[in-house]
Amino acid sequence: ALDEDDDSLDADGLTPEQAELLQESEESFDFEADTSRILDIFINSLYSHKEIFLRELISNASDALDKVKYKSLKDPEYMGDQDKMDIRIEFDKDAKTISFTDTGIGMTKADLIKSLGTIASSGTTTFLEAMGKTEDMNLIGQFGVGFYSSYLVANKVTVTSKNNDDPHQHIWKSAADGKFAVNQDPRGNTLKRGTKITLHLKADAVEFCDQEKLMELVKKYSLFINYPIYLYTSKE
Ligand code: ADP
Ligand code: MG
Repeated sequence: ALDEDDDSLDADGLTPEQAELLQESEESFDFEADTSRILDIFINSLYSHKEIFLRELISNASDALDKVKYKSLKDPEYMGDQDKMDIRIEFDKDAKTISFTDTGIGMTKADLIKSLGTIASSGTTTFLEAMGKTEDMNLIGQFGVGFYSSYLVANKVTVTSKNNDDPHQHIWKSAADGKFAVNQDPRGNTLKRGTKITLHLKADAVEFCDQEKLMELVKKYSLFINYPIYLYTSKE
């Protein structure tokens, strides 16, 4: 899209005016007690397995697309004017971002607060229990460690999402510092339906902002994914 090439936009694709509006309407939430501590343990124990964020985000996108497929079997109107069923991965070397966009079911405002604000809802708890019993790093492959694996490579994550059951698109963001913020998107319902997750990479993870590296990992982790995955670079 033309908008995305505009240099006046910030790393999340917002104009300075939109970013200011966002700041003003921001609703801030605290992660549940212990979440930050669990996140720390999690990130430290998986430190040498950073690349799994890709597997987790692709698998979440695929799950979200499966849900649309199922819903639209029962309700043919469900697809609405978003009939694409795919996953787009974009990276921007200058902005040091990687984003994952799916046209899956998306999340309502309440879903964003619940699904991305509660650590116990993911496989993390099971993971930590097993980690306490053994040092075997091979265990990692057996767990869906989920959305929070984003923080293995990112210091800030922005999630924009639109679900049919919510009239508005919302933006969730967190720097994993104990709190997260949720806002209505000042750009309107640009996604129609689905989710865009933008990872603002840590300095020691910029190696992932690379065509060949991403291509190799996408191939590795998309073997059993039933939807097309496109890899784009936003700037040359
Ligand atoms: P799990 O996938 O095991 O449930 P995750 O931590 O990976 O755990 O994700 C937590 C929840 O966040 C998911 O169950 C889902 O409700 C929501 N979620 C995450 N990513 C997406 C996405 N791309 N689209 C819709 N919902 C998502
Ligand atoms: Mg998952």
